[in-house]
Amino acid sequence: MPGCLQSLRDQDYPGEYEVIVVDNGSTDGTAEVARRLGAIVVHCLEKGVAFARQAGLESARGEIVVQCDADSVVPRNWLSKIARHFETHAEDVGLSGDAKYRGEPLWHRPLSLINRWLNQISYWCLRHPMSILAGNFAARREALIAVGGYDLAFPQCGDEFDLLLRLAKTGRISYDPHLMVETSSRRFRRRFWQFLLADTFYHTALGLLFHRLTGKPIKGSRRDVRDEALVVRTWPWASRLRFATPVVLVLLVGALAYGFFMPSAEAFGKLYFATKTHEKVVALTFDDGPNEPYTSQVLDILQQYDIKATFFVVGKNVAYYPETAKRIVAEGHVLGNHSWDHSALQPIVDVREVDLAKSQATIEKIAGVRPHLFRPPFGHKTPWQMEQLEKHGMVVVTWNVSANDPKQPPSSVIAERIIKHTKPGAIILLHDGNETIHGADRSNTIAVLPQIIDTLNKEGYTFVTVPELLKVDPYLR
Ligand code: ZN
Repeated sequence: MPGCLQSLRDQDYPGEYEVIVVDNGSTDGTAEVARRLGAIVVHCLEKGVAFARQAGLESARGEIVVQCDADSVVPRNWLSKIARHFETHAEDVGLSGDAKYRGEPLWHRPLSLINRWLNQISYWCLRHPMSILAGNFAARREALIAVGGYDLAFPQCGDEFDLLLRLAKTGRISYDPHLMVETSSRRFRRRFWQFLLADTFYHTALGLLFHRLTGKPIKGSRRDVRDEALVVRTWPWASRLRFATPVVLVLLVGALAYGFFMPSAEAFGKLYFATKTHEKVVALTFDDGPNEPYTSQVLDILQQYDIKATFFVVGKNVAYYPETAKRIVAEGHVLGNHSWDHSALQPIVDVREVDLAKSQATIEKIAGVRPHLFRPPFGHKTPWQMEQLEKHGMVVVTWNVSANDPKQPPSSVIAERIIKHTKPGAIILLHDGNETIHGADRSNTIAVLPQIIDTLNKEGYTFVTVPELLKVDPYLR
C-alpha cells in the first residue's frame, strides 16, 4: 500500500490530480498511512471491491477517473500517458492497460498470456478489452456516471467486466498493453482452486450469466484477498492438492472438450444421436441444404424409393432456395433447424440464441413449418446453448453414423462408412450442402445414395424420419 501511494505521488504528470484511497474496513492502519502521504481517504463500510470502486468514483472530481489496486506500483509516466491518450482520442471513453505480476506462480503464467490475447482480440473485434487486469483502468468520469457506475450486484468479481460491457455501448475502450503496472501476485499464490473455481468460474462467469438471465446477483460471497492467510490456514490439504492440479486441469479441459466436440456427448444437456431399438429402422438425415442442384437430386432419389428423410437446413440457404425448402415439406420429409449461417463461433458467443430464432422465423415464413428439431453445426455444443434450446422446446439431434462427406471422399468410401456402421435405431448423417457455399459439390454423395439405400433395404432396414424414430412431433405448435 505505501508503495502504491508513493508511486502515485511520484508521477511526472504536470497537471492537477487527486489521490483517493477507499478504506474498505482495513485493520492494518491503511487510512493513517494514506492520509500521511497526502491522499483523500474515503470510508466504505460495505465489504466488496465493487462498493469500494463505486465509493471512489462518487467522490472523484476530476474529468478522468483512474483506478488502481492497492497492491500495485505504477510507473512514473502512468498518469501522463493516460492523460495524453484521452487528449488525443476524443472518441474513447475508457483505456485499459496490462499488469505484470511480481513472483507470479507458474500455473498462472499461461493464463496471463491468454488474458492478454483475449484482450487484444476483443479490442480488435469489439472495440473493448475482455478484462481489466489488476484494476489498471481509466475512464471519462461523465461516461462512468452516465452508465451508472459499478453494478453493486457484483460486489466481489465480475463488476469490472460488467462495467466494460455497459461502458462500451457509449464509446470505444482502448487496450494498451504497454500501459503496464506492476502488481503483487498475492491474489494468486496458493489459491489455485479458489481462483479457478470460485473467482473465475463461479463469481465471474456464472455470476454474469446468472445476472444476465435473471437480473439477480448470484448467491454467496467471495473471500477477500485480505482473508487469504486465513484461507490457507483453514485448508491444510491445499499444498498437497497442488500436485494433483495438472492432472485435474487436464481432466477438466478434456471433459469440456468432450462435451463440446463429441456429437454424442450429453455433458451439457439432453440430445439424441440414435435410439435404442431392436427393430431394423434407421433415419437418413441431410445437412447444410438446400443446395442446388444437389438437394433436388436427393429428393428425386428419395421419391423413387418412396423414402422419407429429415433435412437439417441452414436458414440462410432456405432464404436462397425457398422453392427447394417448400418441396422438401410438400413431399413429406421433415425440416429441422441447422442454425442461421452455420457459424462455428455461434454456440460460444450467441448466448441468447438470436441465430436460432432468425433461422426458425425464416423457415416458418418460407416453408410454413416451425421446426421442433435442432442440429448444432459440426455437432458443437455449449452449456448455455443447450439451456436455451431446451427453453425454446427444441429437441437436439446429432448422429451416430457419418461418412465425413462434407469433404467428399470417393463414393465407395462413403458407402462403406455408412453401411458398415449402421445398426438398428441409427441416425445417419449425409450432406446435400456444405455450410453456406452455394452449389458446393455433393456429386459423390448423390452417386452413392441409391447403393446405400439398396444395401440397407436388402439387410432388412426400413427408413423413417427422425421424429418417427424418436417418437416426437416434427414441428412446434
Ligand atoms: Zn452442418
